[in-house]
Amino acid sequence: MQKSKFRGSELEDILNSVSLGTRHLVAPLFVRDHRAKAVRRSLFPDFSSLSLEDTVFKVGQMMNLGISSVILFGVPSLRDSVGSDAANMSGIVQRTVRKLKEEFGEALTIITDVCLCQYNLSGQCGLKDSSGDAINNDNTIRYLSEIARTHAEAGADVVSPSSMMDGQVKTIRTLLDETGFRKIKIYPYSIKYASSLYSPFRSLAFSEQIMDHVHMDKSSYQVPFMNSRESIREIQNDILEGADMIIIKPAILYLDIISAVKERFQFPLAAQNVSGEYAMIKSAGSLNWIDEHAWIISAICSMKRAGADLIISYFWKDIAAILNS
Ligand SMILES: [Zn+2]
Repeated sequence: MQKSKFRGSELEDILNSVSLGTRHLVAPLFVRDHRAKAVRRSLFPDFSSLSLEDTVFKVGQMMNLGISSVILFGVPSLRDSVGSDAANMSGIVQRTVRKLKEEFGEALTIITDVCLCQYNLSGQCGLKDSSGDAINNDNTIRYLSEIARTHAEAGADVVSPSSMMDGQVKTIRTLLDETGFRKIKIYPYSIKYASSLYSPFRSLAFSEQIMDHVHMDKSSYQVPFMNSRESIREIQNDILEGADMIIIKPAILYLDIISAVKERFQFPLAAQNVSGEYAMIKSAGSLNWIDEHAWIISAICSMKRAGADLIISYFWKDIAAILNS
């Protein structure tokens, strides 16, 4: 990364104006099963999936920088038509959660992504119905709650369903409560806009078995980007169903929505600065087309200014270095 062009006091003023601190950051990490097949050529600059051991090391680094929350995405060894490895107590996410809790205990908040797209052959976020064409919402939310339960049993503090299925928060909350996990929180991805900005994520998390990871159609359950009324409805439903915080992604193109939602609901809100947003800044920065440092700061500050209480960002290390300088 380029050296900062900000003067120290100028940077301090910017950070103070939005009260940004390392406590507002969540580090996303991809943990890969050692038996996982080699993934396609990654289109994710300076970012890769990690073994369980490297994840433990990386979380240690993260905590030394003052960040105490991580969100884990699993890259499993087994992909099948029903995403069966997602609810495996010996699956990569479940094993990693157990190991991280052993190492870091309560000092670390572990959030787990709860979805099916890394685990099934279609790359879709839900289970297909018997026709094989459409996603079956009810079967999917039942299975998502089972996945969430295994994450809770492994020691996760928060589960984050990201499939955008209707009723997912309620179904997960009910099963967690019934199985002794009342304290486990739910931060759903309440608004996940259909977007081309997820490609670097998919290039890393999806195996070569999924041929066209760029042009996947998830429009039947993700939110169309031009619709803000539907977004408000999705948020309302998740709050009523028992969400403890809501997540909106992508972030940079949807600051108006983040701001409107914060103002309307006054509810805890996280923004995810997604892989495409990260890749654009990283790649333009590496070519010296933009001042990468200044862009990272202004992008993250804009999310905080819009109303995000937490920011999930692949820039966690860069931002923490800036905040700690
Ligand atoms: Zn998904």
